[in-house]
Amino acid sequence: MNINGHTKVYGIIGNPIGHTMSPAIHNMISEALGIDSVYVPFVANDDLKSIVKGLFSLGVKGINVTVPYKTAIIYELYGVEPMAMEIGAVNTLQYTEHGYYGYNTDILGLERELKDENISLTGRDIVLLGAGGAARAVAFLCASKGASSITIVNRTLNKALDIRADVAAYAAKNGRFDLSSNVNAITFKELGSIPYNDITVFQCTNVGLAPDSEACVVHDSTFYRKVAVGVDLIYRPAETMFMRYVRSAGGASYNGLKMLIYQAVSAYEIWNGVAVPDVVIYDVERSLA
Ligand code: NAP
Repeated sequence: MNINGHTKVYGIIGNPIGHTMSPAIHNMISEALGIDSVYVPFVANDDLKSIVKGLFSLGVKGINVTVPYKTAIIYELYGVEPMAMEIGAVNTLQYTEHGYYGYNTDILGLERELKDENISLTGRDIVLLGAGGAARAVAFLCASKGASSITIVNRTLNKALDIRADVAAYAAKNGRFDLSSNVNAITFKELGSIPYNDITVFQCTNVGLAPDSEACVVHDSTFYRKVAVGVDLIYRPAETMFMRYVRSAGGASYNGLKMLIYQAVSAYEIWNGVAVPDVVIYDVERSLA
């Protein structure tokens, strides 16, 4: 990497930030494409107003935002893409002359992973394990892609109820009254009452993340027998306990590595106005797997 007076600077803000893989992904893409830019991590604090003002004054062309600032950042932006506004979370800022414009490329990343794996959400019964920021984005993606039901399962019921209300309202606003009355919120104790078979499940909790690789939020084999497709948003370890349960019961399982890479690729494409070639994406995936 040759940093010079013309090198464009990009980065990610969050706290903590030490675990982020985004610099590795973005810098690998720049190197492969011969684009003169560098991507660096910034540990942020709650004073997002000053942070955004400083980055803007320095002309930083693109910024990713991670935990815990994906919602609070919205108040500092010039504008936000409609779906990101519905979700209430932004992870990508693009410099414009009026201020930063916000996108949610987490959702674009998952959409691209599902397309790669030939996983369709249309007409599917969806179960989300977890009701944090990631589950909220997945719930909106499922609603926008024609799911027939969405069941949000969470330890803390109130958080599942909040997503339920917002997604049901979004479905009704878009004329999906069938889905609007089929968004459910339950706790793990009620998992046995789910009336659907052949379900698509997204594992959106932190449980099972390395080094707690043997942990899983659900152990019930009756549940796994109903799972046709299981996607774990976790990407470390490469095969989580949840994925193993799905596979053992005969379902297809996927981890969240492609989602992670594609959210970075989508941000890169927004910032640079290029399409990152598949061969570069494949090389990035191979180096991180
Ligand atoms: P978050 O907002 O902090 O939500 C965490 C979720 O996990 C909540 O539903 C929480 O339940 C649940 N949870 C945590 N510990 C639990 C336990 N011991 N038992 C049961 N439930 C538990 O986090 P997030 O941003 O949604 O991220 C969730 C996961 O998705 C993380 O592992 C993250 O790495 C992954 N992720 C991956 C990508 C990707 O690109 N692949 C992108 C985003 C996120 P309560 O509400 O009850 O606390």
